Amino acid sequence: MWSADEVAGLCYTHYSTKLPKQGKPDPNREWTLLAAVVKVESAPEREACLNVGNLQVTKEVVAMGTGTKCIGHTRMRKTGDILNDSHAEVIAKRSFQRYLVHQLWLAASHQQGSIFSPGTEIGKWKLKPHITFIFFCSHTPCGDASIIPMTKPEDQPCELVSRKDPTRHSADCSGNHDPVGPENKRKTEETASDYVTKRMKTVISDSTCEVTERIAAQYVPGNQQNIQDTNTSRSEFITDGQREILTCAKETGLIGAKVMDVYRTGAKCVLGERDDARRPGVEYHHVGLLRVKPGRGDRTCSMSCSDKLARWNVLGCQGALLMHFLQHPVYFSAVVVGKCPYSQEVMRRAVIERCQHISFLPDGFHVQEVKMLQSNLQFKHSRHAIQTGHANGKAKLVPCGAAISWSAVPEQPLDVTSNGFKQGTTKKGIGSHQTRSRICKVELFHVFQRLVASMSQENLPESLREKKLETYWEYKEAAANYQEAWKVLRSQALGAWVKNTKDYLQFT
Ligand SMILES: [Zn+2]
Repeated sequence: MWSADEVAGLCYTHYSTKLPKQGKPDPNREWTLLAAVVKVESAPEREACLNVGNLQVTKEVVAMGTGTKCIGHTRMRKTGDILNDSHAEVIAKRSFQRYLVHQLWLAASHQQGSIFSPGTEIGKWKLKPHITFIFFCSHTPCGDASIIPMTKPEDQPCELVSRKDPTRHSADCSGNHDPVGPENKRKTEETASDYVTKRMKTVISDSTCEVTERIAAQYVPGNQQNIQDTNTSRSEFITDGQREILTCAKETGLIGAKVMDVYRTGAKCVLGERDDARRPGVEYHHVGLLRVKPGRGDRTCSMSCSDKLARWNVLGCQGALLMHFLQHPVYFSAVVVGKCPYSQEVMRRAVIERCQHISFLPDGFHVQEVKMLQSNLQFKHSRHAIQTGHANGKAKLVPCGAAISWSAVPEQPLDVTSNGFKQGTTKKGIGSHQTRSRICKVELFHVFQRLVASMSQENLPESLREKKLETYWEYKEAAANYQEAWKVLRSQALGAWVKNTKDYLQFT
């Protein structure tokens, strides 16, 4: 049907050909993150039968986002006209919601080519059969999914950490291609010993900006402490933090491989909850926790991308408003990650397993068994690609401050922002209509309201029929099944989620 490389390749081509130069990083000094939603449509069975062995599948990018930044809580606004979170994953998801509104409008106005067909209740729509959506990101999402065990002394930020072949890293990335050379032999001996950290480097896998780098500066790489063998014979010497990581290593199928350290995330634990130990090496982080994104000095209220993916995997990615019109939530069937530090098992833990135990979700909601795949293709403007493109490798690289949104919609599909507003916005301009992103809360609310207004009362779903709703908050609250699912999810799994207070949602 499709492969991870096909999906990544499609997204990279779309980035290169459909996105403008404006908003892209200056490859001499900047990098960014890319995320996208790819629609996969298989031919109806009747046609497939005529093409036995050649199942027709079309793949199309329908939403894309780039970006690395997030605003601090002091810059949030009660008017809904700023983008709080401009990580690529969130920009792509909001761009996808814009696409979904357009598709609902096509369906409701009886036009050809919509992805939706009428549901069984009045005013409700369902995805046509054979249509699924894949979420792509060029890098492992920040937060829990980025806390990946490192299993060898010389870290290569590009390597794949996978159950299939944990020995592959030293073969591929040791930089020594003589299989019987003395260096290789020494390495093998070291790997078998308990004291192998002297050449260890710490690499920050997480992509996100300033605070990540500050942690890197505080942290003394290559600490010289003993890391206990992952075999349990010496487990009495392992501290809680190490045990947690080592347990994780066992779960990840890395038994026998030595866990040297973990990749770091710049995302911080939610205030008032359990915090990271911040001890050197494998004890730095606790795993499985909810985290907020780093900001520039100022704490943010935006949850990490790992946490958001976990939430979308239960509530869908359409949000509360669009749930009024949908019979079922829109789930991603797969997540594909570009070439970067990655662990299939850690991704599963972060995105699926933290919520897997929950019960009593309202009808239509479930914990999606989303497929996780990694591509071997690297994003050309990723931090690693830009870094290796510099001959001396020492250039000071910074994350690109702009975010690009693209949606498959006929009018103004592109939107370039920085600091949460249209790029080029001056202080004086803030608050004016022209400075708003097309995917900020209030703009998405307005296209949703236009969709509602285009329908006659008798064609509206019950939750909106003859209702006097005004504010964004009221419309969201009125999506009762969505709110019920969110309540269940919070009470059983994501209790520490940082919610926006009501006063940030009462605009019209
Ligand atoms: Zn992120």
